[in-house]
Amino acid sequence: MGSVAVIGAGPAGLMAAQVLAEAGQAVTVYDRMPSVGRKLLMAGRGGLNLTHSEPLDAFVKRYGPQATRLAPLIEAFPPSALIAWAGGLGQETFVGSSGRVFPKALKASPLLRAWLARLRTLSVEIRTRHDWTGWDKDGALRFRTPDGETVARPDATVLALGGASWPKLGSTGDWPDRLSAEGIAVTPLKPANAGFDVAWSDMVRDRFAGQPLKGVAITFGRVRVRGEAMVTRHGLEGGAIYALSAALRDAVAKDGSAKLWIDLRPDAAADQLAARIAQQPAGQSVANRLRKALHLTPLETNLLREAHGKDLPSDPAALATAIKGAPLTLTGVRPLARAISTAGGVAFEGLDDQLMLTARPGVFVAGEMLDWEAPTGGYLLQASFATGLAAARGVLGRLESGVVQ
Ligand SMILES: Cc1cc2nc3c(=O)[nH]c(=O)nc-3n(C[C@H](O)[C@H](O)[C@H](O)COP(=O)(O)OP(=O)(O)OC[C@H]3O[C@@H](n4cnc5c(N)ncnc54)[C@H](O)[C@@H]3O)c2cc1C
Repeated sequence: MGSVAVIGAGPAGLMAAQVLAEAGQAVTVYDRMPSVGRKLLMAGRGGLNLTHSEPLDAFVKRYGPQATRLAPLIEAFPPSALIAWAGGLGQETFVGSSGRVFPKALKASPLLRAWLARLRTLSVEIRTRHDWTGWDKDGALRFRTPDGETVARPDATVLALGGASWPKLGSTGDWPDRLSAEGIAVTPLKPANAGFDVAWSDMVRDRFAGQPLKGVAITFGRVRVRGEAMVTRHGLEGGAIYALSAALRDAVAKDGSAKLWIDLRPDAAADQLAARIAQQPAGQSVANRLRKALHLTPLETNLLREAHGKDLPSDPAALATAIKGAPLTLTGVRPLARAISTAGGVAFEGLDDQLMLTARPGVFVAGEMLDWEAPTGGYLLQASFATGLAAARGVLGRLESGVVQ
């Protein structure tokens, strides 16, 4: 039996701990926070979208440029395995209308409770309030604790420190400099699944912040996404925006801004919309005609004004065209701290196929701190769990071959 330190008690670290303990290793999990799995619990507030039900070949493409690196890891722990694992912890799942998979409880706390109980039966030791600060000159892990500094000398280590969004939940993204100093390549951390700035008029900001645009289609470049967007005081966020956010983020970084197009009635063609608008008496206000003909909400009508100017055309065909394509300019990306997830991280070039750092043999990396990104839809948790499992298997392979850190 070997001793393994897992640093970070999120989905990736806890999955690594489970796999290692089931294989008979002595596992200690360290987390800097007073309790574990805080981001997982936060994800539970949105229903806990564990994974997605689409076919595996489409699923792995969601990881964009990193699809080839992640595909074998996801195939080794696919959505069906994640669903079975959750079921084993008493959490039956269902497939929502968009193909997303959720636990029937629609929250994370029962899953996390059952998981921690399972880990206890496997004798996994969890040490909270242990903040990993790096390695000492002899290669021991250093931790800051309320009782002072402590060190650990495990046979192998799994780092699962998370990204840098929602830092108050424990993952602050303070590790890139620490790893770079060891010669480990880290791609700069960037917001993923983030909101964007829009220079709203005071009226839109004050009256409509917090209101959703439902059932819209948003186009950026050649990509069109159906879904929901939320108007915020700063701009726009929500599922349809997140799905485009990697491309939008990169365009804003390159050009200073990015223009997207919102189709407020994607299920109807422009001539159908025009015909319905034309049935309304021309004497009414534009807002009333749009409300009666097409059920446009006050937010939607005002969005048209933001996009096309205050005086909307009265001609039905021109109005229909305006509804099918309202341009909005995004002027910035909301901060990483407010994003759902983090792009960038430990570069795959510095890892072997088992997720071990070539610059630090015996140290494996898992979860969101790796350099991949994906849209919302369950892809983030699926990759976190799958890479946690892959790192644990890597540790086992190394320990079984008799190598210690
Ligand atoms: C609001 C919100 C909603 C989300 N909803 C979903 C969803 O529905 N579906 C989905 O797939 N994904 C969702 N996500 C993303 C998902 O939660 C993350 O991708 C996932 O938690 C990443 O897992 P991880 O184990 O890599 O990192 P984390 O869950 O971030 O865990 C990392 C752990 O490491 C600890 N740590 C960090 N540094 C140190 C250190 N130096 N010493 C000791 N401990 C340390 C942290 O305290 C933390 O507990 C959501 C994220 C947010 C913010």
